[in-house]
Amino acid sequence: MSESTLKPGVVTGKGYKTLVDAAKSGGYALPAVNVVGTNSMNAVMEAAAKAGSDIIIQLSNSGTAFFAGAGMPDGFKAKVVGAVAAAQHAHLLAEHYGICVAMHTDHANRELIPWVEAMLDEGEKYYAQHGKPLYSSHMLDLSADPIDFNLGECARLLKRMAKLDMSLEIELGVTGGEEDGMGSEFEEHADNSRLYTQPQDVLQAYDLLNPIGHFSVAASFGNVHGVYKPGNVKLRPEILKNSQDLVQKTHGTGHNPLHLVFHGGSGSEKAKIAEAVRYGVFKMNIDTDTQFAFSEPVGEYVNANQRAFRFQIDPDDGTPYKKAYDPRKYLRAGEQGIVKRLQEACEDLGSKGRSIAQK
Ligand SMILES: [Zn+2]
Repeated sequence: MSESTLKPGVVTGKGYKTLVDAAKSGGYALPAVNVVGTNSMNAVMEAAAKAGSDIIIQLSNSGTAFFAGAGMPDGFKAKVVGAVAAAQHAHLLAEHYGICVAMHTDHANRELIPWVEAMLDEGEKYYAQHGKPLYSSHMLDLSADPIDFNLGECARLLKRMAKLDMSLEIELGVTGGEEDGMGSEFEEHADNSRLYTQPQDVLQAYDLLNPIGHFSVAASFGNVHGVYKPGNVKLRPEILKNSQDLVQKTHGTGHNPLHLVFHGGSGSEKAKIAEAVRYGVFKMNIDTDTQFAFSEPVGEYVNANQRAFRFQIDPDDGTPYKKAYDPRKYLRAGEQGIVKRLQEACEDLGSKGRSIAQK
């Protein structure tokens, strides 16, 4: 296990690399949780602090727009300023939770390359002022495009990101299911070679990107976004091992040279998760499960306090409902749902009690 410790707060550059290496050498992975506002973001930091785990906080493009306000008239602008607002919130608050937080943005397909570039414009301004980037990493998901285009764009943007001490997450192969309107529909007759990442493709990515900067790979090994009936797809973590072995053999690197990311892990068997972590997965995305964990207790609260959601004062007996309809009551119930669900995630991924933040 790594002896390194880091100052609590948002980690970028060298700190981010230290965090990734600590997870891989320590045999655990970090939950990467999608958030859409300060409620979910604060709950994720609270959960990490409670579990003694470091954490990755991420936003999808629609998550950043929602963070800025769903009513903002310019939708593209909202995605950019929302991303800035979310990162600034984390830079200000994360250190007070006593854990390390990596800030990340999720899937950006071909149409969203301008979004990533606009966030980099903002990141460059922030870097000039603060000597660190707004985000630890961005994802570019061009897995639906031909691999040469995918990797060419990744190389182009990684050159820019490396100057800001940022890391890039790429995707090779197609993760099934749909996440936030992104990703591809899972079809049972889907071409296997696309559903399962090919080691030669991973090697091609390593050859091109490793000399440029720090990057991670979301590889497809039968993972599916969202929650589906079990049995549709078979998780095959050995695909990850094959990629690691090919890069290690070709370049004479150490064990598990690739930094791997597990998308679509909701509902996976715990043994398969542990196996994936052994093969170099340091980050597992969690969205669907924490969405439900937030909404379920809110629903219970609304059911248990139905009249407070219809009347300020009960028309029959004059009961004042102000305390019950105060939005903090049900928002907090949702936050607590996230905190509880993430304790389980930190246990499954082995990150519980493994925070490398200085006490
Ligand atoms: Zn994903």
